[in-house]
Amino acid sequence: MKLVILDRDGVINHDSAEFIKSPDEWVPIPGSLEAIARLNQDGYNVVLATNQSGVGRNLLDIATLCAIHDKMHLALAHAGARVEAVFYCPHGQDAGCNCRKPKPGMFEDIAHRFNVDLTDVPCVGDSLRDLQAAAAVDAQPILVLTGKGMQTKAAGGLPAHTQIHADLAAAVKAIVS
Ligand SMILES: [Mg+2]
Ligand SMILES: [Zn+2]
Repeated sequence: MKLVILDRDGVINHDSAEFIKSPDEWVPIPGSLEAIARLNQDGYNVVLATNQSGVGRNLLDIATLCAIHDKMHLALAHAGARVEAVFYCPHGQDAGCNCRKPKPGMFEDIAHRFNVDLTDVPCVGDSLRDLQAAAAVDAQPILVLTGKGMQTKAAGGLPAHTQIHADLAAAVKAIVS
């Protein structure tokens, strides 16, 4: 099975320092939905793994998170794109869970759910912790320079073999080529 794992905020939609707390605040980055459609056309299943500590901080509840994802799924469908599943960590930084990236818990759950080996699976994110979680399961970390990506690149310390692309559209071009 061909699989790609994507971070959400800063990769598919514009990020906010104040968290994405409502469907109105979820605004796609130009070209990102079409990029996911391109992956689908090439036979890739696309799964999201997203830290949503705003839930743990009571900035939004699960119902609102689901409403945000309803909007996302609808926007994807309108672009001819589909994501198979959205894995999210609702916990705050201090919860000590194993799902909050850079911990690999969500990636391990994805591997189990889809019965797939994550070795070299492309994992696209804009934060160091996305890349670290990918590296922890021997997947292929891909940094995009949207969202927090510029700061992440400037800060350095990226996992070995991290690939860097301007945005999801450029990353997808490289993945399907
Ligand atoms: Mg992000
Ligand atoms: Zn968690």
